[in-house]
Amino acid sequence: MTALATDPAPASVAALRAALPGVVLDDSPTALAAHRTDRSAMPGDPNPLVVARPASTEQVSQLLAYANAHRIPVVPQGTRTGVAGAASAVDGAILLDLTAMDRIVGIDADDMIAVAQPGVIVSDLAAAAASRGLFYAPDPASAQISTLGGNVATNAGGMRCIKYGVTRESVRSLEVVLADGTILRTRPNTIKTVGGLDLTGLIVGSEGTLAVITEITVKLLPAPGPERGVLGLFPSVAQGLAATNRIASGSRTPARLEFMDGRCLEAIRKHIPDAPVPAEANAWALAVTDARDGAEEDLTSFEEIFTDAGATTVQRATSAEELEAILEARRQLQPSARGLLGGSVEGDIAVPRSALAAFSAGVAEVENAYDVTIALGGHVGDGNLHPIVAYTPAEGARARADEAVMTLSRLAQELGGTMSGEHGVGLEKLPALDTEMAPAALDLQRRIKALFDPNGILNPGKKY
Ligand SMILES: Cc1cc2nc3c(=O)[nH]c(=O)nc-3n(C[C@H](O)[C@H](O)[C@H](O)COP(=O)(O)OP(=O)(O)OC[C@H]3O[C@@H](n4cnc5c(N)ncnc54)[C@H](O)[C@@H]3O)c2cc1C
Repeated sequence: MTALATDPAPASVAALRAALPGVVLDDSPTALAAHRTDRSAMPGDPNPLVVARPASTEQVSQLLAYANAHRIPVVPQGTRTGVAGAASAVDGAILLDLTAMDRIVGIDADDMIAVAQPGVIVSDLAAAAASRGLFYAPDPASAQISTLGGNVATNAGGMRCIKYGVTRESVRSLEVVLADGTILRTRPNTIKTVGGLDLTGLIVGSEGTLAVITEITVKLLPAPGPERGVLGLFPSVAQGLAATNRIASGSRTPARLEFMDGRCLEAIRKHIPDAPVPAEANAWALAVTDARDGAEEDLTSFEEIFTDAGATTVQRATSAEELEAILEARRQLQPSARGLLGGSVEGDIAVPRSALAAFSAGVAEVENAYDVTIALGGHVGDGNLHPIVAYTPAEGARARADEAVMTLSRLAQELGGTMSGEHGVGLEKLPALDTEMAPAALDLQRRIKALFDPNGILNPGKKY
């Protein structure tokens, strides 16, 4: 964990107002309460100083220069849809709400890039690209509610990573403001450059701890073909995972490859009774193609693999609407989780795909040890599962569920994997860091943080 290098000077909103006359500052109890935490269960510190809403890079720069000089912590925030507590408040902090910087600066169809401010909602950027016949590939399930800046700062994943990679793969360059107010661009917008170290790569996924992202240039692709998909239902988790692994390692890379076990299906059905998920299946797998050429062959191949692996049902989505309804049901897994037993905590492990079966086999032991029920679903094409640890609310039950998530994280680490595939470390996953990274790597990481932010003002206490 990082802490402020020196004691904060007595910061006051009045002094901030005087120093930053152009920046919208809101210290109303309503604003402070609304910005105190994200969608995780991490409450955030109770006494942040103020919510600041800059309108430009220059305002971000002035604000950071002031905060740095006065050792005031700054917590960058998008729409706070994060699920690891990364955007949660810190006592005495300026909560830097970047949602007012929400302009799509431009789309260049020749160079196939888009330039956007950090507060742009991800699905709005995707729609703007689509209106020019282009494609912004990252598709987290929160695309309609999360910001591009938040996606870049968390290196968000989602359902299309097996084919198009995580957000990192779509980021061409960044304009950022360093902790002392310096504005810089991380690289030219060329496809290639080997000039200098990869600063873009360092800042992507840094969860607001290295710099504030004020403009993002992303790569666009030619529009893919229409999505078409095949659903397979299996008698066992092992058979479902065997099938998805065969598809993932085959030559016909799907655009989406998703998995849910029977308990996930039960959770969704409880939440949305008319959701298009089957009543009886122990495993559900969906393989989607968006190929412009060869889509029919892709679908046939997915069907054959599902059948070979022992699927009891193999079925094509008959229309775009039907496929979208199936995908929407899958997106509802996280919001459905609590309905299983009344309380739930979600993990975010990723393992090499070959270790998915071993991970799922280890789950029963964790259930018994902590008296919880675990549902397994996620982006199996990336080896990324979001184990839902469900519990019946009672004294001590939540603490047991948290411990179960930590044990699952360690199981993933033992299998060569990670405690977080896409949600980030934030506050929630900090306890699992020491078992994931070698002491020398952790130390190097903290020294890099200190170089970027010597006074430790940016999102202190998170990520490291
Ligand atoms: C229903 C639902 C579905 C989700 N599905 C997915 C999914 O499929 N895949 C996935 O990866 N995540 C998913 N998430 C998690 C979340 O949406 C992502 O982590 C998202 O990237 C957060 O974006 P945000 O704008 O809400 O950022 P916030 O939560 O506000 O912030 C997240 C982090 O980014 C930092 N940050 C934000 N903006 C900036 C900036 N401009 N400069 C520097 N740092 C910044 C913050 O300090 C914080 O550390 C989901 C969440 C929900 C609620």
